[in-house]
Amino acid sequence: MDQHFETIRGDLPGSDWRIKVLRLRGTRPDSAPTTYLQAALHGDEVPGVATLHVLAARLRSLHARGDVFGDIVIVPVANPIGLSQSLAGEPTGRYDLSNRMNFNRDFPLLPGPDPSILLADDAPVTASMRLKARLVRLMLPAELVLDLHCDEQSLPYVYLHEALWPACRDLLAAMPSDVALLWKDDGGAAFEEAALAPWLRSGADLSGRTVATVELRGRSDVSPAFAAADAAGLMRFLAGRGVVAGDGPADWDGPVAPLDNVEMIRAPRGGIVLYHCDIGDRVASGDRVATILFDPAADDGAVDILVPQAGLVLSRRDQRILRPGEDVMKIVANGPSATARPGPLES
Ligand SMILES: [Zn+2]
Repeated sequence: MDQHFETIRGDLPGSDWRIKVLRLRGTRPDSAPTTYLQAALHGDEVPGVATLHVLAARLRSLHARGDVFGDIVIVPVANPIGLSQSLAGEPTGRYDLSNRMNFNRDFPLLPGPDPSILLADDAPVTASMRLKARLVRLMLPAELVLDLHCDEQSLPYVYLHEALWPACRDLLAAMPSDVALLWKDDGGAAFEEAALAPWLRSGADLSGRTVATVELRGRSDVSPAFAAADAAGLMRFLAGRGVVAGDGPADWDGPVAPLDNVEMIRAPRGGIVLYHCDIGDRVASGDRVATILFDPAADDGAVDILVPQAGLVLSRRDQRILRPGEDVMKIVANGPSATARPGPLES
């Protein structure tokens, strides 16, 4: 396995960043697909880092036996800028603190797979924009692209473009995934959209191609057991696609929903949130799912949140202090949400 570091010029003198890139050369690069895997694009979402650590060790063993057929590129920490950020000791890696931009938005959406039109390394933009261009450059040659993220407290689930469904059902079957969420049109220029745009926009044949954002449960679900299970899932997926030797996944028939079917429950008042349900629970229309204490210890100081339609509790916040309008939880329902809005579910 080759390893090298890509340097991203920092915004100020003496502040360059490095991304580690691992490459395995497959024995059949002409017939087996090329794979790109990255983790921690949101710098404080690290279950995927642990997963790729375990996966890399397994791939090294397979490679030594000649059982890696397709080329594989692994970026275990895609965003050292976000990983290094903290506020008074609390890691905070979703937004670039220097400009408030989401690290998983505003990626370049290319009209075709031509890296020559990406920003040059010396372009007068911030380091996080240079980082995004570099990640696209690393990813472009791959036919299988997986971006490993996590939610706050959550079931494992996967985002896919609707054009890739059901062709990519094997990814859901391989990973310990509970739900597939399908998006279309506006992906917020997330990394996933940037990985698919060159092919969608040029009208290319998408068969054999996979681009997905894989949500590996919640932010604190980082353990040897989860890393082993998720690395085994990735290995099953790669085996099924002929990238490595081994057994592929069985079939999968879990819930599949367009983004419009996700009820994004938002806080009607600011205060302390008390949940009446846990992730994985099934709720009925009108069920009380949470209470916000906006005036603690007052007779009428709490407001209940009732779910507008039946569904599966996919995720909820890990903090218990919320401001008005903030996301409280995601519920996957059978029909469209009355409050669905275009674009990604979250800012
Ligand atoms: Zn994320």
